[in-house]
Amino acid sequence: MNKNSSNIMALAPNTSNKRETVCIFGTGDFGRALGHKMIQSGYPIVFGSRSTQKSSLIPNDAEVLSHAEAAQKAAIIIIAIQRQHYNFLTPLAEILHGKVLVDISNNLKINQYPESNAEYLAQLVPGAKVVKAFNTVSAWALQSGTLDASRQVFVCGDDMEAKQMVMDIVRALGLTPLDQGSLLAAQEIENYPLQLFPMWKLPILLSLGLTAFFFFYCLTRDIIYPYVYENEDFSFFIAISIPNRICPVLALILLALVYLPGVLAAIIQLYRGTKYRRFPDWLDKWMLCRKQLGLVALAFASLHVLYTLVIPIRSFVRWRISSSTVSQALNNKTEPLNNTYAWLSDSYLALGILGFFLFVLLGITSLPSVSNNVNWREFRFVQSKLGYLTLVLCTAHTLVYGGNRFLNPSSYRWYLPNAYMLSLIVPCIVLVVKFVLVFPCLDKPLTRIRQGWERNPKYSE
Ligand code: NAP
Repeated sequence: MNKNSSNIMALAPNTSNKRETVCIFGTGDFGRALGHKMIQSGYPIVFGSRSTQKSSLIPNDAEVLSHAEAAQKAAIIIIAIQRQHYNFLTPLAEILHGKVLVDISNNLKINQYPESNAEYLAQLVPGAKVVKAFNTVSAWALQSGTLDASRQVFVCGDDMEAKQMVMDIVRALGLTPLDQGSLLAAQEIENYPLQLFPMWKLPILLSLGLTAFFFFYCLTRDIIYPYVYENEDFSFFIAISIPNRICPVLALILLALVYLPGVLAAIIQLYRGTKYRRFPDWLDKWMLCRKQLGLVALAFASLHVLYTLVIPIRSFVRWRISSSTVSQALNNKTEPLNNTYAWLSDSYLALGILGFFLFVLLGITSLPSVSNNVNWREFRFVQSKLGYLTLVLCTAHTLVYGGNRFLNPSSYRWYLPNAYMLSLIVPCIVLVVKFVLVFPCLDKPLTRIRQGWERNPKYSE
């Protein structure tokens, strides 16, 4: 009972109406925005500045004093100043002794300095309790109140009490503190706002590389080849035909690449006989960006759907249909319905529609608002079972589209197969390996390994 109540006390924000005075060093953009927000939340604010003249930008209710005078008025001092100016704090070390210094600074580059700004501050003022916080919140968001996207505030520090005091302020501002541990975490917290879509880098670079490759591949096969051998100008294919070849090819390859690291991980675990050894770095990184790979694949699949929908209104397609009708009329001969071809064409379309439907379902369930509402088993069912079903349907859609053209020599130009044939390589490998892994002789040991069993326990050392 006692234990529970002490936990509640530790987690509860400071609910007393009277708030302690907080000092902010620096009357720049961030200092002013944070000061304004804190005054709104009931904190008396005193600014420490090089100039004690109060400008009209500074909130009316705040005092502006010299650094030394301001520091004496508060137990918590927020340093809203760039790291390169921190040395002005050294002469104030005595006044700052025992105070909580909140480092909110960011750098211009990742790992710009050997130590984090917060650790540097702790070295400059050894008697102070340094806490890192607020660096992921922007002055603009504080001022405009648009904090929805950045409600979480990472907090770290070596002194538990000091950290708790800062977390209380964070809560009082309507934000959510996330305790990241000791000051050692500061470097990572400082690097966080400098990252540019870290999980999207690999999927985007990969899709750009594959798009460029398949564009030149299709250009060679579908435009340059007929121009060289038949003197036909199909350059207009660049607008719709070639994109409509590249999009499904990329959608299928990227979807297969979502599932390939899973089967590679299974093979590695089976080979090592343990799950307690780290995967190689490249595999770890690949696994972490599977969701983004899947979303890029979905974007390509959606483009394929759009390009396909406009096929009937294309001038080239209408010309081909009308010239075939005219030629049948002139020869007074109607082509009979080819039942096999009709079956193939309808099956190919049906597989595509079902595959795309499941693809969209996978995309929707990967959204945080949806995935947060399903339990772990439901999420795994959708992302793994339905995911593989999507891959099977999309691969079958491409195989049926190819029909018997795979073995037809006329579908090779300069020995180059159609792009969709290349797109089948990775999905077929993934599906075959997955199929093999489902056999009980492999599935049973793999399940046991994933439950913690080790073939050779020395590996876990
Ligand atoms: P800023 O507008 O340039 O303000 C910096 C303030 O530092 C100045 O107004 C000045 O205040 C003080 N200062 C400048 N040179 C100084 C010196 N030589 N000695 C002592 N004080 C000096 O910068 P800011 O945008 O407010 O950023 C301040 C800190 O917050 C930075 O470390 C930044 O990385 C961090 N931060 C900013 C944001 C943001 O959105 N702006 C977001 C997160 C974190 P006085 O004239 O009053 O002395």
